Amino acid sequence: MNEFEDNESFRDRVSTIAEDGKRLWVYPKRPAGKLYNYRHVVAYLLLLFFFITPFIEVNGDPIILLNFLERRFIIFGVVFFPQDFHLFVLSMITFIVFVVLFTVIFGRIFCGWICPQTIFMEFIFRQIEYLIEGNNSRQRKLDEKAMDFDKLWRKSLKHLIFFLISLVTVYFFLAYIFGMDKVRELVAEGPAAHLAGFIGMLVLAGVHYLVFAKLREQVCIIICPYGRLQGVLLDRNSINVSYDYKRGEPRAKYNPLENRDKAEKGDCIDCNSCVQVCPTGIDIRHGTQLECINCTACIDACDKIMERVHKPKGLIKYASERSIAEGTKLKFNVRILFYSVVLSGLLILIGYLFSIRTDIESTILRMPGSMYQEYDSLHYSNIYTIQLINKTRKDLPVELSIDESEGEIKMMGGPLVVNKGDVGKATFLLVVEKGKLKSSSTEIEFKVKSEGREMDKIKATFVGPNELDNK
Ligand code: SF4
Ligand code: SF4
Repeated sequence: MNEFEDNESFRDRVSTIAEDGKRLWVYPKRPAGKLYNYRHVVAYLLLLFFFITPFIEVNGDPIILLNFLERRFIIFGVVFFPQDFHLFVLSMITFIVFVVLFTVIFGRIFCGWICPQTIFMEFIFRQIEYLIEGNNSRQRKLDEKAMDFDKLWRKSLKHLIFFLISLVTVYFFLAYIFGMDKVRELVAEGPAAHLAGFIGMLVLAGVHYLVFAKLREQVCIIICPYGRLQGVLLDRNSINVSYDYKRGEPRAKYNPLENRDKAEKGDCIDCNSCVQVCPTGIDIRHGTQLECINCTACIDACDKIMERVHKPKGLIKYASERSIAEGTKLKFNVRILFYSVVLSGLLILIGYLFSIRTDIESTILRMPGSMYQEYDSLHYSNIYTIQLINKTRKDLPVELSIDESEGEIKMMGGPLVVNKGDVGKATFLLVVEKGKLKSSSTEIEFKVKSEGREMDKIKATFVGPNELDNK
């Protein structure tokens, strides 16, 4: 019996740390079953998305770009500028609230099905390990035996492939930050031209390699902040991978000649299949534990056993603690209601802010230090600067206008064109008939148009002589 098979009911340390503080390496048996097949499909679709997206462009730009260094963000073709930062922050908050709400109801389903750590670990690195070193018992034996040629080539090949995969992954990861073209350029021009870039890439690849070759489940158990939040997010109504102890206990070894119902034995035949497949080394029969990433491997393993002993599947299943204890369904409690209200409010706010987001953002300011000028005997003029941010991915010709009765705009320089994703500046005079001014400060509304479409409206003040206020 190993440390994981011990039927402990209380632990004062995580499953992968021995009493003497040493790490217990987990050798999970390769899972098999319906849910594992579904997870394969989900994982490979997500991996496909990760590796294909950097190649997809919209109007010459990547469809997703998360350039934190230069503060340039493109999310599904929508370009975000520093001026849109509030939208970005709100989207992130909404995402976090969504994850929290989702966790309250569905537990750590994200960890088992969608989290990149699980997907890379279980569906890339672990698969290669099974291929080169064999299933769990062979891996354990290989680790325990002294170094020989067989161990040397298997270990070397595995770690070489692990590192190469890490390099490729980091290449694509950087493409999300700098764009595929820049990363291609970096690799094509070599370390001599981009030494810092190359060192950065190697360091990131090294970290990635260490995470999957060495740290593994420790990321989920100790490092991941989302994992640490589970303790406060989950309650008795949260759906988790759970063992139906009402049905399973008292557990007892299987005897084909025995009628378990008559012998008042539970359905659990204490085969430990659920423990052997667990990638975090726990026994789900002890209830929800912080190490459980809801990967469902134990569900598949137990279902297979139940099939063999002719018992209904689902001894381990997605269920809440309350539903198992009381046989009730998920209850819509106050906490779920509160998170739903907050999430709906944020979604409405984001929807509204996106709907009023203009393609061009403009600012008009009177030239610093300038007052009014006598344009001619009949007119005053003010000098302004206009700053325009083109948030689209095409160059836009821009016209500025005001109501003809209010005055006349005289642009300085040629026609105003703002390049895609760029900031344009221009200076102009606003000329107003003296007789139309009623005070020293008059509010004027400018309209910013492009290709005949009104893009923005901005208010500014036109100043005249102070004597106008005394009339
Ligand atoms: S207990 Fe089951 S669901 Fe949780 S991590 Fe282990 S195998 Fe996965
Ligand atoms: S796999 Fe099922 S039957 Fe076997 S020990 Fe786990 S819960 Fe019991």
